[in-house]
Amino acid sequence: MSRIVYVNGEFVPEDEAKVSVFDRGFLFADGVYEVTSVLGGKLIDFPGHAARLRRSLAELEMDSPIEDDDLLAVHRELVARNGIEDGLVYLQITRGAADRDFAFPEGATPTIVLFTQAKPGLADSAASRAGIKVISIPDIRWGRRDIKTVQLLYPSMGKMAAKKAGADDAWMVEDGKVTEGTSNNAYIVKGRKIITRHLGTEILHGITRAAVRRLAREAQMEVEERSFTIDEAKEADEAFVTSASSFVMPVVEIDGAELGGGTPGPVAQRLREIYLEESRKAAI
Ligand code: PMP
Repeated sequence: MSRIVYVNGEFVPEDEAKVSVFDRGFLFADGVYEVTSVLGGKLIDFPGHAARLRRSLAELEMDSPIEDDDLLAVHRELVARNGIEDGLVYLQITRGAADRDFAFPEGATPTIVLFTQAKPGLADSAASRAGIKVISIPDIRWGRRDIKTVQLLYPSMGKMAAKKAGADDAWMVEDGKVTEGTSNNAYIVKGRKIITRHLGTEILHGITRAAVRRLAREAQMEVEERSFTIDEAKEADEAFVTSASSFVMPVVEIDGAELGGGTPGPVAQRLREIYLEESRKAAI
């Protein structure tokens, strides 16, 4: 099955899509990205992703090759052309192609690429019913994790370390405190209190995190924003992660210690329901 992808203003079959070998995304990981989920053929949280994209670009002094309205139109067109009911739209913008030099090139034209991934049943995965197991690893990423860059080698290595350890994902730890998951924000639950790390440059400001925080408060659940240790997490009643592609995903084991008897907890399950319900309603 060949997808239609979007490259620099054109919709083309995936095997005809080309980016230069001099592209700075390829040579320097000089690029940013967003992932927006699609449920029932509609985009979840698109305005949040568009706003974060603008911020990532601005932080890197990178020009945007596209206006928000056009970006939305391209997302919708790709979803329609590829017949995506449930899945993802991946978007990447790089500083563009230029002769290799560490200094940012003057006047390079940014590269923009979007493609879809079909994920039938995305909102009802086996993992969401069983919960996932995480291990802890040191967080040795760069210091500007609030910018959503394509430097994803360490998170990839973290996922592989988790797989080798018989787990599903890794939580990263810096100065004794959990920062976030390899591709998600991390939470613990004590009683009815939800605890997640405060925003800063050490973590990505998750779009799903912002929505879940608002919805939890609307549902009269307390949300405390502070860092926590792996030991505290192991003693928690529940844990979960959030991301655009996994929504709210229960965590049932941390470094071999079972939480809640190894089954998803009520707070995580309720938040997942609320998040999916509200997101579907607001999808565009
Ligand atoms: N943290 C990291 C490191 C991530 O890669 C992601 C997902 N890309 C998230 C958090 C979650 O962000 P969002 O809810 O916007 O998908």
